[in-house]
Amino acid sequence: MKRKQVYTFGEYLKNKFDCKVHKVSISISGFTCPNIDGTVARGGCTFCENDSFSPSLDKVQPLKGFHLNLDSKENPYLDKQLLQLETQFNTLSKRVKNEYKAKKYLVYFQSFTNTYAPFDTLKALYDKALSFDDVVGLSIGTRSDSITDETLEYLATLAKTKEIWIEFGIQSIYDETLEKINRGHDSANVKEWILKAKKAGIKVCGHLIFGLPGEDKKMMLETAKEAYAWGIDSVKYHPLYVVKKTALENQFNRGEFTPIDEQTYLDVLVEAIQMKPDDVNVQRVTAGIDNDTLLAPMWCKDRNMQIRNINKALEKVALKY
Ligand code: SF4
Repeated sequence: MKRKQVYTFGEYLKNKFDCKVHKVSISISGFTCPNIDGTVARGGCTFCENDSFSPSLDKVQPLKGFHLNLDSKENPYLDKQLLQLETQFNTLSKRVKNEYKAKKYLVYFQSFTNTYAPFDTLKALYDKALSFDDVVGLSIGTRSDSITDETLEYLATLAKTKEIWIEFGIQSIYDETLEKINRGHDSANVKEWILKAKKAGIKVCGHLIFGLPGEDKKMMLETAKEAYAWGIDSVKYHPLYVVKKTALENQFNRGEFTPIDEQTYLDVLVEAIQMKPDDVNVQRVTAGIDNDTLLAPMWCKDRNMQIRNINKALEKVALKY
């Protein structure tokens, strides 16, 4: 039986730009998350290992304890952040050019909450990223409770000539689940900002997590169905896994959280992909971590094995990834 290729983000970009476009992941020091700094909650999402949220500015200079938020009045480190952006981009774009034969790039503001800073800082960083050679656009990872109308309007202006994406963590449409993981916002807030971003002409990638505490298959699939209905353009599917130094670790050790098993994940994933509208592209089908910070489930350790098993499961329904 001939297998149909799942529509991927890479394919979307190739069709649009007629060449290989690769994301370049950037991590800017001084950014944090309102779920960590106490604005909406402390401690962050239960699965988030946020010790690493006191980053240094690479070799540029440590930012001892300095963190931006939406109300920060000034940013004395902006020049250093811009230099950090440039240094990271230059290094990583060379790498993906050699490894993947990339011809053009999307600058991916990946770590932390990348709209959670004063507008002037964001504008400077976004503009700088777009000024680099062969950059066709941006992808900005954030939370739906951490973006202002001013930022959204600016991104909408950029989207008229550039490829502009926002990546929102949806995780689950169930508020009781969002409470259990200490998400700090509800599902209505995510929906509201996805619809606003879409209306403004910005493309949206939704992140979904399967295996959240208290959720069964039906709930996971309802989340996927609802996210598609909100009009997301792209999707990242992840299993929930437990890493050390998280609240989830404590819950797991007390026997209060059972991680999703691989077969259940495969079943949900395949069904979620099958009910996905054809024009929604897929950026990620799983996640994991290959080091000793991973506590469970252990099938999240070996990415190659995960992808092989996903492809075997997809083969049964004549799909491939
Ligand atoms: S929103 Fe993201 S960065 Fe913030 S606590 Fe949750 S997982 Fe961590």
